[in-house]
Amino acid sequence: MTEIPKIQKGCIFYENGGEIIYKDIPVPKPKANEILINVKYSGVCHTDLHAWHGDWPLDTKLPLVGGHEGAGVVVAKGENVTNFEIGDYAGIKWLNGSCMGCEYCQQGAEPNCPDADLSGYTHDGSFQQYATADAVQAAKIPKDADLAAIAPILCAGVTVYKALKTADLRPGQWVAVSGAGGGLGSLAIQYATAMGLRVLAIDGGDEKGDLCKELGAEVYVDFMKEKDIVKTIQDATNGGPHGVINVSVSELAISQSCDYVRALGKTRYC
Ligand SMILES: [Zn+2]
Ligand SMILES: [Zn+2]
Repeated sequence: MTEIPKIQKGCIFYENGGEIIYKDIPVPKPKANEILINVKYSGVCHTDLHAWHGDWPLDTKLPLVGGHEGAGVVVAKGENVTNFEIGDYAGIKWLNGSCMGCEYCQQGAEPNCPDADLSGYTHDGSFQQYATADAVQAAKIPKDADLAAIAPILCAGVTVYKALKTADLRPGQWVAVSGAGGGLGSLAIQYATAMGLRVLAIDGGDEKGDLCKELGAEVYVDFMKEKDIVKTIQDATNGGPHGVINVSVSELAISQSCDYVRALGKTRYC
């Protein structure tokens, strides 16, 4: 067994918007319910930027190590942990832990828990070599998985996968993905295609269009070129898609997509 060091490298900031410093910091000790993960890869999410700026209504902890898309190997665990063994692959998600006692937690809606502990926000996250996560919420990762490919799945992938699952669509139905050529959208196209859905991808530019088609989208709508985007989408999907996944980040794209989502008729909202 490899020795766990007392000191590690991490990216930390001491005030919101302040300098992010790459430096030696202590390796955290897992609590009774936690695992300690040697992070091999971490994605970077737009939310990490908000945590750094501190421009969300919820305060971050300070100082803070950001990151909530971490994939790595379990190197230690607290005495109450029974579902992970040393050497298992594990993932650090946005939801680091929750109370498991409130109504939300008991219904499987832990992200709504009023006491939710958030990786890279209220709990030091994956921008360090060793990070802790609640063993109940940490993601189980199969041993033969490519950890580099898994890292962005832990937020970007989970987000669109959940939207597609809760949209309750059936194979053969249409789903429109807005922001389809981006980090979340490109994953949404692949999941939707694997679920047997027909994908109408919305984004801007030929390059995004080529990527969307390559990933499985049947139709690509370039919102920068279309004059009547609602009509185009309705015509392409026999009256409107059965679901819409909206993962655009630009304000303009969001307001435009909300307009056509409202106009699409048989759409369910995701
Ligand atoms: Zn995220
Ligand atoms: Zn709870």
